[in-house]
Amino acid sequence: MVEKIAIWKRFCHLALILLATPALSGNPAAEGFAEEDAMIRALLVTGQMNRSHNPDLMDEAVQAYLGETGLFEVTVARTPAQGEDMSPFSPDFSAFDVVILNYDGDEWPAATKQAFEGYVRAGGGMVSVHSSDNAFPDWEAYLDMTGLGGWGGRDEKWGPAVRWRNDGVELFHGPGEAFHPKPHEFPVTVRDPDHPVMQELPREWLHARDELYSNLRGPARNLHVLATGFADPSMERASGEHEPVLFTVRYGEGRIFHSTLGHIGRKATGMPESVRCNGFIATLQRGAEWAATGHVTQPLPGGFPGAGSTSTRP
Ligand code: ZN
Repeated sequence: MVEKIAIWKRFCHLALILLATPALSGNPAAEGFAEEDAMIRALLVTGQMNRSHNPDLMDEAVQAYLGETGLFEVTVARTPAQGEDMSPFSPDFSAFDVVILNYDGDEWPAATKQAFEGYVRAGGGMVSVHSSDNAFPDWEAYLDMTGLGGWGGRDEKWGPAVRWRNDGVELFHGPGEAFHPKPHEFPVTVRDPDHPVMQELPREWLHARDELYSNLRGPARNLHVLATGFADPSMERASGEHEPVLFTVRYGEGRIFHSTLGHIGRKATGMPESVRCNGFIATLQRGAEWAATGHVTQPLPGGFPGAGSTSTRP
C-alpha cells in the first residue's frame, strides 16, 4: 500500500501545477513552484525480500542517495508482508517518472502486474537493484524488463547468459544457473563511455567488496551493456568472464537501468562497502535519472574510485 504521504504529495503536486499555470496565477512566486514541480517523481517498491538480503538497509540507501541529489522526490510503496493478502497492493505507477525495485517476494495481483507492464511499455522508467532481479521468475514481462535474472530455478530455459568477449557481447546458450563468488573487490570496466550514465566515469574502477552476479540468465532482449565486472577465475565459483553489472533494457518505450551491484546481507547491521562504494552510488543516481528522463544532468561527484583502489563513504 502506498503510504498516506504519497497521496498527500500527489494532492500537493496537483495544487502546484494549478498555481504554476500562468493563466491561473500571476504570482511571481509561481516560478518557485514550477521548479518544485520539475522534481523527478520516484516510487520505491519494497516490502518483501528473499532470505539472503536486508531490504531495510537497501531502502534506506536508495532514499538517501536519490534524495541527496536534490532531483528526486521519493515515495515508498510497501507491499503486504509475505503470505498476506496481496490484493490491496495497487500503486498508481503512472503518477511516477521512475519505479525503483527493491523487491523479491510474493506475486503481485494480476491487475497490478498489468498496470506495471503498461506503465513501462508507455515510457515509464524502471530501476532494478541487485537482488530485485531474483524476483518473479514466472512473470514473462518482468523477465523482459529486467533482461537478466537469477535463482528461483532459472537456468538456460530462461535464455542465454550475457558475456563480454572480443570487444562485444556474446550470448552463452549452454546450461547452468546463476552463481557468484563470495563477496570481494573486483574491477569494473566501462563498455559504453558515451552513454549518459557513463559519461566522464573512469574507464575502469575497483568496486568495493560485493557479490559479482555471474551467469545470470535471459531473455536478454533489447539489452545494452554499460559496464562489466571481471570474475577472476582464481576465485572459487568465479566464471572467468566479464559479467554485465550495469546495463540498460528497452521495454516498449520504457527505459530500464539494471545494476546487479549492491549486496547487503541479511545479517548486516550497517551499510556494507558494496553500497558505500562511490561507484555504486553515482551509477545508481545517474541510472535513475536516465531511466526517468533519458538524460543525466548530474556532474560526476568527486571521490570516484580508480583502477587500482576502491573508494567508499565512511
Ligand atoms: Zn546479494
